Amino acid sequence: MRGDPSARVLVIRGDRAVLAEDGTRLRYRRVQEVPEDALWAFLGRTAAGVPLLLAARAADAPDPDDGAWAPLRVIGGGLDAADAAALVTAVSLGRWLRDSPFCPSCGARTAVSTGGWARTCPDCGREHFPRTDPAVIVAVGSEDGDRLLLGSNALWDANRFSCFAGFVEAGESAEGAVARELARRGRGPAA
Ligand SMILES: [Zn+2]
Repeated sequence: MRGDPSARVLVIRGDRAVLAEDGTRLRYRRVQEVPEDALWAFLGRTAAGVPLLLAARAADAPDPDDGAWAPLRVIGGGLDAADAAALVTAVSLGRWLRDSPFCPSCGARTAVSTGGWARTCPDCGREHFPRTDPAVIVAVGSEDGDRLLLGSNALWDANRFSCFAGFVEAGESAEGAVARELARRGRGPAA
């Protein structure tokens, strides 16, 4: 896919990407514009059939466009559905590609395979796949439908509130995760 001159590349550094000048779309690059330290994956094709590639760089990798980088959590909500889906996938897959170079079974350095969606161990032969972390976010409303329960966090900006969300723990149901998060948050002065 890197040999296709029409391919578009979404370059990320950690959880950050660059917006195009209008501030609402991601900036994609050509393959030859990507530094050599990137790890690659195939993200799919655009609606027009153009290959879309991921180039995942380290979070602290130097880049000439330094000022324009912004994290997924800040820019994700303003993107259209296609760009948002590409960036969410890119950050999740890219983090795994960068953070998991060694085989958890035998410790050997693995090779990226399956278009960036797996890593294969040359020593023990095991295949390893991207980690996924199930999470839930729920709208807890009043019975009359007029009110919504929101929480805040001491680490957030002032006046920022959210529905309740959390990661599902091992062996837990999604409903159980919601109940646990609400019980835990309900004990503190600020949820
Ligand atoms: Zn191994």
